[in-house]
Amino acid sequence: MTRIRWFGTNWKMNKSPQTAREWTTAVGTYMAEMPADQRLFVMPPYPLLPQILQDTKGTGLIVGAQNCHWVTSGAFTGEVSPQLLKEIGAHNVLLGHAERRKQFGETDEMIGRKASAALRVGLGVVLCIGEDASIKDDPATTRSFLEKQLSIALGDIPALAPEQLVVAYEPVWAIGVGADPPAVYEVAEQLRVIRHVVDQIVNEHVPIVYGGSVTLENGPSLLTETVADGLFIGRHALDPAMFIRIIQTAL
Ligand code: PEP
Repeated sequence: MTRIRWFGTNWKMNKSPQTAREWTTAVGTYMAEMPADQRLFVMPPYPLLPQILQDTKGTGLIVGAQNCHWVTSGAFTGEVSPQLLKEIGAHNVLLGHAERRKQFGETDEMIGRKASAALRVGLGVVLCIGEDASIKDDPATTRSFLEKQLSIALGDIPALAPEQLVVAYEPVWAIGVGADPPAVYEVAEQLRVIRHVVDQIVNEHVPIVYGGSVTLENGPSLLTETVADGLFIGRHALDPAMFIRIIQTAL
């Protein structure tokens, strides 16, 4: 069976309509020649979703939101419902990113409600999990922490369509400016644990991607020396040429 490789990026609160178009044009050129066993996804800020969905129609680029609520509509100022994302044509949604957990107080239970709601309206979900620096060197604690994040987030999900769910292992200590890029040995075991736990919870094969300071240098080993099915790339994928180089070098 062909092993599908996943490469994605979350733009966070970055880019304008103009720089978004430059990115999608460059990535679209790569995708026109891309082998069928690759999947690329991008999560722009909400207001850029219609433009990007329109500009990339037919390319195969998976375009998603960076968050959603768990309720369909109502008095939730500033929130966006999974139903609306589905109706405007978004393909998936990122849930549980470490910044949402830390800066906006999202709990495992909230993320579980969001995952359930998004999957039920037919959106794909990229679910982020990961431990922080305080437990990283304690394998048993890290293992039970990751198990708990997964079991709560996936505790009430419906039957999945193929490729509807992706789990992103993003250790908090490895994410963002100032973080040390991880050594492969530091994340390989956790990826195995996650593979095992996800296989016990979900019947469908769920791809697992690694994210956190992925670079041109460490991308190949993070992909080929672990059980990861792909890479989730943050700041180094804002430049489309670098995003494409990281993909090509890692494969
Ligand atoms: C992230 O924050 O999800 C991420 C992967 O960022 P970076 O690659 O910049 O560490």
